[in-house]
Amino acid sequence: MSDFEILDDAFRTILRADSAVRKLAGDLRFTEGPVWVPAEGYLLFSDIPANRIYCWRPGEGLSVWREPTGNANGNTLDRQGRLVTCEHSTRRVTRTEPDGTITVLATHYRGKRLNSPNDVVVQSDGTIWFTDPPYGIKPEEIEQPHNYLFRLDPDGTLVAMADDFDRPNGLCFSPDETCLYVADSSARHHVRVCDVRPDKTLANWRVLAVIEPGAPDGMRVDTAGRLYSTAGDGVHVYAPDGTLLGKILVPERPANCAFGDADRRTLYITARTSLYAVTLAAQGI
Ligand code: MG
Repeated sequence: MSDFEILDDAFRTILRADSAVRKLAGDLRFTEGPVWVPAEGYLLFSDIPANRIYCWRPGEGLSVWREPTGNANGNTLDRQGRLVTCEHSTRRVTRTEPDGTITVLATHYRGKRLNSPNDVVVQSDGTIWFTDPPYGIKPEEIEQPHNYLFRLDPDGTLVAMADDFDRPNGLCFSPDETCLYVADSSARHHVRVCDVRPDKTLANWRVLAVIEPGAPDGMRVDTAGRLYSTAGDGVHVYAPDGTLLGKILVPERPANCAFGDADRRTLYITARTSLYAVTLAAQGI
């Protein structure tokens, strides 16, 4: 069990007897944005500097799915199964339609260009939430006064929902969507959480965890509400109350993770030059 660090007995219920971290692909540059596509039975993920989105199909391996991508970073699916993507160099959030055409969803806020949208999640009513730190642009290219957390409503209205993050980054909802988790990947190393009200305003922000080593980036939850946050040494698994249950140790530093396969029991992990996976007893959402 050297792939895992068990800090609480509850972590054992997450693992299968044969759970192990497997390397699926290497020789990449900086991998991010994993998302499982159930309708196709494959994983998509970004290689940001390579300007590519790759497809990993179990049993077949790796292929280039899109190039160029605007240096795509985070990806997710909306409720119709369409890919929603954060693009660094084109500084926008896009949606890929079933016929492959790209619809631009957001480029500006209050007349100024977005920084470099980083990661994205879609609520069950179709509302899109994304973070906008400046990792993908030069300091002199920054137009926004803050690194916002944004809410993009189904009618196209873009609303800044938090302005006090240093580097807002990965984000995900609790299974019932009453809580929103957002990473601050600055020197703060914070995973913050807030309550999501029925009117989609946010309240009661608090720090759930301070990630060490490294800073949090992408994160996901499982059906039991446990949070899987990337960290410097792997993926840290937290109970909803913030108790660190254990760690999935990864040879390279992960930037993001996503549950996949038909049963959603495999956690795919994008970590620098590689793609890893670990099959668990836990089931992701
Ligand atoms: Mg990120």
